Amino acid sequence: MNPFTYSHANRPEEAVAAVAKNPRADFVAGGTTLVDLLRLDVMTPDALVDVNALPLARIETLPGGGVRIGAMVRNSDLANDPTIRQRYPVLSEALLSGASPQLRNMATTGGNLMQRTRCYYFRDAVSPCNKRQPGSGCAALGGFNRIHAVLGTSEKCIATHPGDMPVALAALDAVVHTRRPGGGERAIPLTDFHVPYGEDPARESVLEHGELITAVELPAVPWFARSTYLKIRDRASYEFALASAAVALDLDRSGSRAIRAARVALGGVATKPWRSREAEQVLTGGKADEATFRAAAEAALKGARPQRNNEFKIELAKRTLTRALATAAEIKV
Ligand SMILES: Cc1cc2nc3c(=O)[nH]c(=O)nc-3n(C[C@H](O)[C@H](O)[C@H](O)COP(=O)(O)OP(=O)(O)OC[C@H]3O[C@@H](n4cnc5c(N)ncnc54)[C@H](O)[C@@H]3O)c2cc1C
Ligand code: SF4
Repeated sequence: MNPFTYSHANRPEEAVAAVAKNPRADFVAGGTTLVDLLRLDVMTPDALVDVNALPLARIETLPGGGVRIGAMVRNSDLANDPTIRQRYPVLSEALLSGASPQLRNMATTGGNLMQRTRCYYFRDAVSPCNKRQPGSGCAALGGFNRIHAVLGTSEKCIATHPGDMPVALAALDAVVHTRRPGGGERAIPLTDFHVPYGEDPARESVLEHGELITAVELPAVPWFARSTYLKIRDRASYEFALASAAVALDLDRSGSRAIRAARVALGGVATKPWRSREAEQVLTGGKADEATFRAAAEAALKGARPQRNNEFKIELAKRTLTRALATAAEIKV
């Protein structure tokens, strides 16, 4: 493991200044991603700034009815918060489907957004990997790529974004709030927070070096209470998604079962939390039935490009989305 210095910050501006001044420094929150990657020599910072003491661990209802989640709120506290469970069940379900109870007790909202891919070759410090070592190639392209992405891939990288919580946040129109080096704050829609890999897969988010996530805000949308998360994986717990779907439906209450609006995001199949506006377009104005849901799933996966070992993910993702929509609409498919 690369030697590093360790310090802790009590105020957000201290944390930002301490990381910004050293290009090889990094924040550490719950440590559940970072410490593994330090041990594997995949991440090699020479300074860690502990952000656990920052006063960012509250979940607050805002005057307009939205909810502000501090970056240091632990995954288990967020999942079990009564407001989240009642008004944004998709978020609670996504969190509870991730990792293990012990990990969720440590993992934070900010750290979860910044978790790294589980691509085997990324985590093996000696394999060619454009994300870990830009310009070295991509071992997954010609290697074993069963868990890799079918949406959003580039010629340089086909790694899947591994998160569950960020998929739910993408469906919920969440906004990430940050503090920037040099002062100032910004608000970034979650759907713009993670960037397409393109030429530089080492760059995963729009954050600049030293920029600290301070909070995530959810809008006040009453029909987000009709939302759900479905995650399909190789074993029933403690496993990353092969395919997942976060959905919310606004159904006409008159009995026509018309869909007035919808939100759809996919996980496990894409290089970033994958909001599908194509699926939403098919759903909006349609009838909440199996045919509409399947048509939405076809639209969501229309641009999918499989690799040698992961073609199965395309049909799996379609079925996952169809079932999630049926669950949200309370119909059987
Ligand atoms: C065995 C195992 C199984 C897992 N299974 C799942 C799963 O099924 N689904 C899932 O979604 N996740 C899963 N995870 C990942 C887990 O959710 C993440 O490790 C966790 O959310 C990261 O949060 P953390 O606070 O521990 O981050 P850390 O490890 O402390 O940090 C991770 C990264 O985030 C950066 N960071 C932390 N806080 C901030 C901030 N406020 N602003 C800017 N940058 C910040 C750090 O610098 C670091 O680069 C699993 C992890 C493990 C080890
Ligand atoms: S898919 Fe991406 S992370 Fe995996 S080996 Fe290729 S470049 Fe690295």
